[in-house]
Amino acid sequence: KRASREFHPEDSVFDIEGVKVGGGNKVIIAGPCSVDTVENVVYLAKVAKENGAHMLRGGAYKPRTSPYSFQGHGEEGLKMLLEAKKETGLPIVTELMSIEDIDVVYKYADVIQIGARNMQNFPLLKAIGKLDKPVILKNGIASTVKEHLMSAEYIMSEGNEQVILCLRGTRTYEPSVRNTLDVTLVPIMQKMTHLPIIIDPSHAAGKREFVSALAYAGMAVGADGLIVEMHNCPKEALSDGDQALLPRDFEYLMKKLKELKPWN
Ligand code: PEP
Ligand code: MN
Repeated sequence: KRASREFHPEDSVFDIEGVKVGGGNKVIIAGPCSVDTVENVVYLAKVAKENGAHMLRGGAYKPRTSPYSFQGHGEEGLKMLLEAKKETGLPIVTELMSIEDIDVVYKYADVIQIGARNMQNFPLLKAIGKLDKPVILKNGIASTVKEHLMSAEYIMSEGNEQVILCLRGTRTYEPSVRNTLDVTLVPIMQKMTHLPIIIDPSHAAGKREFVSALAYAGMAVGADGLIVEMHNCPKEALSDGDQALLPRDFEYLMKKLKELKPWN
């Protein structure tokens, strides 16, 4: 199979707007959960950049549990991300939820994020498989490693081999965290696949105070990078404020990560 080490023994390395992902390169992606205002997004992009992040994240199409919650600014939000990219040069990572938004998201995104809720949306996976654009594929709400890898196959079998796997935890019987992220899966999956594996400590921890420790753990076991949520005013964030790192937390995390000697 295309994602497996048997098929492709060397690590895949992707060049995304000059940022190398995979093969021992460590990619740091930071930014708000939802894009809210252009001022906040540009500010957060600058904080990300100044502290050594390589890409900017931000959602303009949000998969919310409640239909009454903020659903994202849509193309207006994508324009705010583009403004932040112009200011900082950071490539844009943003979620695509539906086939109907492919054209507009394609236009602004440098990396298309497929969220946990869409990990097994097979028509969507096939559709992005036809694009020439890197993809971050998150694991599903309660998916297994094999299911996650099979979803990567759906994208790759259509021709798009630029898939980055993201571990964001799964739902378990443990209620003290939002999702349980087993960092053992990083080396386990690295044996199975040549694709880069990054972790998302934010949606796993669910609370700001535990995000950095989990990020550190994931990088220590050899993850190829992380995608982390950050906000300058989490109380006013339109989604996931409780798990957003403050700029100073992000600065501290980046300092700690520089001291880290990864396992592999
Ligand atoms: C997100 O990245 O904000 C998000 C919705 O993540 P997930 O799909 O992992 O829940
Ligand atoms: Mn979020």
